Amino acid sequence: MKNFPSSISRMIDAFASLPGIGEKTATRLVFHLVRSPENLARELGEAATSLKKDLRLCACCRNIATSEQCEICEDAERDASQICVVEEALDVLAFEKAGAWKGSYHVLHGVLNPLEGIGPESLTIVDLLRRVERGGVAEIILAMNPSVEGEATASYITKQLQPFQIKITRIARGLPTGSELSYADEVTLAAAMKGRRDF
Ligand SMILES: [Zn+2]
Repeated sequence: MKNFPSSISRMIDAFASLPGIGEKTATRLVFHLVRSPENLARELGEAATSLKKDLRLCACCRNIATSEQCEICEDAERDASQICVVEEALDVLAFEKAGAWKGSYHVLHGVLNPLEGIGPESLTIVDLLRRVERGGVAEIILAMNPSVEGEATASYITKQLQPFQIKITRIARGLPTGSELSYADEVTLAAAMKGRRDF
């Protein structure tokens, strides 16, 4: 953006690159920061830095973790033989909040989207296949969002899993097409998991 000091336009560009924030909102946020006491800007900067410094992806399920493995993978009470495959770490949070799942997860960090250049290698599908290869997995539950990309991703994963001859299920369609799993209410999520069917 022209006419602003570069420190302002740099911050506007940073905010505007976030999902759901357009240039107008980004500009408003930045000018709010300019007007605010200095500690707000400092806190924002420090929080953003520690976010990347303190967090990593779980070595097993690729969920967000603070150590080698996430809390769920480290929990001996969870059934590691059942893996619920989700698009985002936010979906794990939704299932956990709903208390709808006692197995483990695998976080893909996106869905296949050839138009946007997102192929299988951009996701964590290889890590999932490695987990299955290691053995001890009885069921894979595909819990992608009900979208075209979600369906394509589910089909692709199913094909890749074919040689392993394990049970593959898909969560029930209580979710309206195009809706996002992480926004579904707890009852819907629990019902979708309970009513899962062979894929
Ligand atoms: Zn994990």
